[in-house]
Amino acid sequence: MQVLILGSGVIGTSVAYYLARAGHEVTVLERQPAPALETSFGNAGEVSPGYSAPWAGPGVPVKAIKWMLMQHSPLVVKPMLDPAMWRWGLSMLRNCTQARYELNKGRMVRLAEYSRDCMKALRADTGIQYDERMQGTLQLFRTQQQLDGTAKDVEVLKASGVPYQVLDRDGCLPYEPALAAVKEKFVGGLRLPGDETGDCFKFTQALAKLAEAAGVTFRFGVNIQAIEHDAAKGVTAVRTDKGSFTADRYVVALGSYSPALVRPLGIDLPVYPVKGFSITVPITDASGAPESTVMDETFKVAVTRLGDRIRVGGTAQLSGFDLALNPRRRDTLEHVVTDLFPKGGNVREASFWTGLRPMTPDGTPVVGATRIPNLMLSTGHGTLGWTMAAGTGRVMADLIAGKAPDIDMEGLTVARYGG
Ligand SMILES: Cc1cc2nc3c(=O)[nH]c(=O)nc-3n(C[C@H](O)[C@H](O)[C@H](O)COP(=O)(O)OP(=O)(O)OC[C@H]3O[C@@H](n4cnc5c(N)ncnc54)[C@H](O)[C@@H]3O)c2cc1C
Repeated sequence: MQVLILGSGVIGTSVAYYLARAGHEVTVLERQPAPALETSFGNAGEVSPGYSAPWAGPGVPVKAIKWMLMQHSPLVVKPMLDPAMWRWGLSMLRNCTQARYELNKGRMVRLAEYSRDCMKALRADTGIQYDERMQGTLQLFRTQQQLDGTAKDVEVLKASGVPYQVLDRDGCLPYEPALAAVKEKFVGGLRLPGDETGDCFKFTQALAKLAEAAGVTFRFGVNIQAIEHDAAKGVTAVRTDKGSFTADRYVVALGSYSPALVRPLGIDLPVYPVKGFSITVPITDASGAPESTVMDETFKVAVTRLGDRIRVGGTAQLSGFDLALNPRRRDTLEHVVTDLFPKGGNVREASFWTGLRPMTPDGTPVVGATRIPNLMLSTGHGTLGWTMAAGTGRVMADLIAGKAPDIDMEGLTVARYGG
């Protein structure tokens, strides 16, 4: 079957790889000159099924107000006349009940755990390399209140069968020895030994090479303008600045830019860009750098070792599609890494980046069929796109082949929004 994939971030590239392996004729359209140059470029580097949970949860509205008042705030909302933002925000608030949280988390964990298994198999099959480390992740608590507050998270981890360790201050040190120099700054942590880390950009580039070797055609520098549609035939073509492209099936994997292209087809996709930032710091003293990911719970900033670099990522900013690099966000990231790993790297030589997380209000991505028989969606992966990428690719390949995927698709498709 001929399949046209729109977008070559980590999601579109993963779908392309698994489809090609299943024997389909795949073309990927991408406006950038290479894969993973937008949101999949500079993320925090965690493959973290253990932390798969929606941002919308009980208590979050009150916490959000507190966060917005902090000096190094993890949440920034630019007051704008953007109806999409307010609609998305209200819908997110409606998802903050305990019942909705559990439902949404269950859906996310289902895909994320499957994705972890797919990723393991992918590594075994291909030997793909991306500065990967299999040393778990450590959520670091600066206050006793945060440490005591883990009881609820631990219940959820237990119920989902996710391995975990609650550690006191000294218990963190064998996993992250550099923290010994700043022992007075934290009281303990929650470690998820099953989580992995690495460079999503390197992963996606390497996977694109493997996909190409399996027969995928990547068309870079192609701006998608519209998806043409006919009531009887479904999607008839994809119009771009380099001409029209046709196929038997079409997969939209355009991250935050997906809703605008499917809206004319009558599909209302509540995916909103939630801006995040990262810095990448060259390591100057490896013994002072993190071993894996340390997630600073106070600032919601993740500090990850990527080979000879430290990636520091965080902040959720609601400000539409603006990609400006705000120096105050950089200050926050520099503050966290120098506070916890003062000798690890040179922040003056860091590169600064921003990306738009394609977020749904319920945290769960939108994967699978639509009302239009030859159109499928793979978007809305929000905070955990890389974590869920391999599983998304496998599921999409199975669906397109007419096979039942290994996981239940309940609650993962656009049907949950009535689309
Ligand atoms: C600061 C930050 C930290 C993060 N940390 C993590 C983490 O630790 N772990 C994790 O799992 N996830 C993390 N994420 C989330 C993850 O990066 C995203 O979920 C993921 O990259 C989304 O991938 P995607 O392929 O859907 O979107 P993208 O990577 O944005 O890909 C979409 C592609 O579509 C192309 N495109 C869009 N419009 C058009 C058009 N009109 N024509 C042609 N091409 C077009 C774009 O160029 C782009 O390449 C983080 C995100 C941020 C911002």
